[in-house]
Amino acid sequence: KFISLEGGEGVGKSTQVRALAQALRERGLEVVETREPGGSEGAERIRDLLLQGAEDRWNARAEALLFAAARADHVVKTIEPALAAGAWVLCDRFVDSSLAYQGGAGGLGVAEVRAINAFAIGNGFPDRTLILLLPDGNERAAARDRDRPDRIGGRPADYHQAVDRAFREIAAAEPERVTLVDATGTLEAVTARLVAALADLLP
Ligand code: C5P
Repeated sequence: KFISLEGGEGVGKSTQVRALAQALRERGLEVVETREPGGSEGAERIRDLLLQGAEDRWNARAEALLFAAARADHVVKTIEPALAAGAWVLCDRFVDSSLAYQGGAGGLGVAEVRAINAFAIGNGFPDRTLILLLPDGNERAAARDRDRPDRIGGRPADYHQAVDRAFREIAAAEPERVTLVDATGTLEAVTARLVAALADLLP
């Protein structure tokens, strides 16, 4: 199965990718961990183009197309071969990051960004997408909004809120693929919620 893990800044996503991979391995599954942007040689080169240089290097549409191009290569070179070999693939960010960041918060429109990604990845959508979310007004979310004005545009609090809003909309539109997961509590508690959200897919 192909699983993607999504979430805004500061939700503990990367830690949970490792913990979830471990939990799945303990259930006897072979798990390939990968991440976006990147995950194949060509996609890693596009990652460097996206993440290095001035924040305004790319026009928003060009940036969205580069993310989609990297994703197209990642699917064909890394994800599909791993699935064909019988592994589970766990991806740190995937198409829904583009829908939420470039489409929702970035203002290109979720439907527009979905269209270029549908072209890029074809049937390569995840079997399940888990989106980690902190509730509005949560202490960690507030600290993030204060202390982590990440790259790409300075990222004020309302940007993070727009990302979260887009993630909620995506989950509402595709309830079979996309599940929202509460990111509060201990590391172990969050991992347990993620595993529970995959229960129907586990052997
Ligand atoms: O996964 P991580 O939090 O390390 O993401 C790296 C950065 O790239 C984040 O700041 C995220 O907001 C940004 N990003 C983006 N659009 C994507 C994927 C990631 O703006 N499609």
